[in-house]
Amino acid sequence: MINLDHAATTPLHPDALDAMLPYFGAEYANASGNYADARRVRRAVDEARREVADGIGGCASEIYFTSGGTEADNWAILGSAFALNGKRHLITSRIEHHAVLHACAAAERFGFDVTYLDVDDKGTVSAEAVRSAMRADTGLVSVMLANNEVGTIEPIREISEVVHNAGALMHTDAVQAVGHIPVDVHELGVDLLSLSGHKFGGPKGVGALYIRAGVRVHNILFGGAQERGKRPGTENTPAIVGMGKAIRIACDSLEENQRRTAALRDRLQEQAKLLPGVRINGNIDCRLPGHLHLSVNGFSSQMILTRLDMMGIAASAGSACASGALERSHVIAAMGIADENQADIRFSIGHNNTLQEIDAAAQALRSILCK
Ligand code: PLP
Repeated sequence: MINLDHAATTPLHPDALDAMLPYFGAEYANASGNYADARRVRRAVDEARREVADGIGGCASEIYFTSGGTEADNWAILGSAFALNGKRHLITSRIEHHAVLHACAAAERFGFDVTYLDVDDKGTVSAEAVRSAMRADTGLVSVMLANNEVGTIEPIREISEVVHNAGALMHTDAVQAVGHIPVDVHELGVDLLSLSGHKFGGPKGVGALYIRAGVRVHNILFGGAQERGKRPGTENTPAIVGMGKAIRIACDSLEENQRRTAALRDRLQEQAKLLPGVRINGNIDCRLPGHLHLSVNGFSSQMILTRLDMMGIAASAGSACASGALERSHVIAAMGIADENQADIRFSIGHNNTLQEIDAAAQALRSILCK
């Protein structure tokens, strides 16, 4: 299979797998134990915490491990909303991942008022739109660092400034960005940041929430005292260790991988652009290096994806629902570029893809669209 669906998940880096293996075997002790075997595992968890912190420019004491990006987003939204002390208004955008949108919907059921910001036709949330939506009782703003469908990178630094000037907290879902573009919590000026291991060569089912020192966030899970009393549950030590290794590897080779991935993406884009009815979506001047999102007039997403699949190429449309059927994308709708008669296709390229794979994908697309 030619994998052009890296935004869905990335292959586990072999070194991350090697780092994980002992924690499925001899190093199985519970990291909370008070004996030598447990202390060794605790040290490995602490080391991974440092790696994750280094990967985003934070301190180890500001990193809390979670079961993935979804939990980190849910916790950021609901945990900080519950800690707001009287402020009842939250702001987010219409193009967020459902882990944020559905957490905001849950907050509404708890009595919070949520504003969902519009975006422009490139999928950009403007700092000006955030400024206009701010109210005296706005407590939290959540805007993603990079969109998972079209790859547009949002102006988080400018947005954070607006948010902080108004005395609110700023969360960013950086699940698609970490390990792919430089991410620094201080440069971004965020109070909370979500990330997920399986998007940068780590294992699935593990992620982290960065909580800036001093920011109050309530628990959304209740149990033991793990993660300094904020996130209970026996630590998933193999996954945590694997994520720590993966983020270090991804960040060490970030510049080179970014350049290589963008060159492959641009090659596919140049060939795709020549095909009839194809439009490139997202902000092509400010986009994740591996993302290429296309609309194609006169075709259905399902038909193109099935044909690509038959030719051994994995790509995706917006998001698949639980049944595997294609849902219409809320991101494309929010960008105002949805059309019943168009296919929406996302190719997401990884640094391990080859020129030959890219050219084979371009050729496959040509054979489908030019019948
Ligand atoms: N946020 C974004 C932008 C994502 O792309 C995803 C996963 O696709 C998530 C959150 C959820 O992360 P996880 O799969 O680790 O729960």
